[in-house]
Amino acid sequence: MAQTVSEFDVRRPLIDPFARAITYLRVSVTDRCDFRCVYCMSENMNFLPKADLLTLEELDRLCSAFVARGVRKLRLTGGEPLVRRGIMTLVGSLSRHLESGDLDELTLTTNGSQLPKYARELADHGVRRINVSLDTLEPDKFRAITRWGDLDKVIAGIDAAQAAGLRVKINAVALKGVNEDEIPSLIEWAHGRGMELTLIEVMPLGDVGEGRLDQYLPLSIVRARLSDRYTLEDIAYRTGGPARYVRVAETGGTLGFITPLTHNFCESCNRVRITCTGTLYMCLGQEDAADLRTPLRASEANGLLDAAIDEAIARKPKGHDFIIDRRHQRPAVSRHMSVTGG
Ligand code: SAM
Ligand code: SF4
Repeated sequence: MAQTVSEFDVRRPLIDPFARAITYLRVSVTDRCDFRCVYCMSENMNFLPKADLLTLEELDRLCSAFVARGVRKLRLTGGEPLVRRGIMTLVGSLSRHLESGDLDELTLTTNGSQLPKYARELADHGVRRINVSLDTLEPDKFRAITRWGDLDKVIAGIDAAQAAGLRVKINAVALKGVNEDEIPSLIEWAHGRGMELTLIEVMPLGDVGEGRLDQYLPLSIVRARLSDRYTLEDIAYRTGGPARYVRVAETGGTLGFITPLTHNFCESCNRVRITCTGTLYMCLGQEDAADLRTPLRASEANGLLDAAIDEAIARKPKGHDFIIDRRHQRPAVSRHMSVTGG
């Protein structure tokens, strides 16, 4: 029987050493994926043995422990969250925290390929918004970036999500020489369909078999180019995350910039991440982590788990130290984005 928040014995908010309240948990439910995006994975990835993964029940218990400590937003990610077997069981059980009012939002980040199958069910479980990652609208380029992906399926997934009443935000990684000329078309397409678009700088996570300098396109350059073409109006809209938003006057839509390299916003960080094996990363850009699987499995009560969470949050670092330049082409951290889910 799944636990409700009131069954946990503590209700102390999670506050880190820099007085930041941790209210957002991102959960990588699998490290596997049906794509192999060039900036995220190498072509031949070694995935975790399935036996190492937390079960869906354990993932639920872990998420619920964080909800009991004041987390108001949960994002399921991966790898590709919608390829985890039984994922809808987890979404369904976590939705009880939406119904009880303990959680404001249950959402996910997906590559969109499985949305034709799952969009309706997600909406039925109380999911209201999702992020879909899409870097290009050209089928051949899409195949080159994702190595294995099929653009038609993703577009069908976005159609299904919108038809189910889900709000969709598109995330696109800006890639030098790959999609940099396509950014205006992506803006016009997304805004034309009533979707926000957020551009992301490539981050130096994991060895992906090619140089990061070849991929990295500073968004300061993209923004300057876009300003020649569009009127970008700064807006105060914030989601508590690292994105900063503008309104594009010509389209009436919202455009976000996530700029961990050219400008970081760690001072307002409200989030931590757990992997599918129950490792807690207090910062996306640092190696330090805490094992929550051991205390989770050590007892059915949540005392040990709670203590381990407290101990980890007390070590949350001030921020990341990402740099990509000629002298820094190695990953800042060795794990791939698919481990912590971005
Ligand atoms: N598979 C899902 C997807 O693609 O949306 C969820 C996981 S994916 C790791 C989450 C986000 O991280 C995607 O938007 C992806 O484009 C982004 N991403 C992956 N590797 C990245 C990197 N090295 N730098 C910046 N963004 C990255
Ligand atoms: Fe898969 Fe998402 Fe990584 Fe692409 S970015 S390989 S879709 S996990």
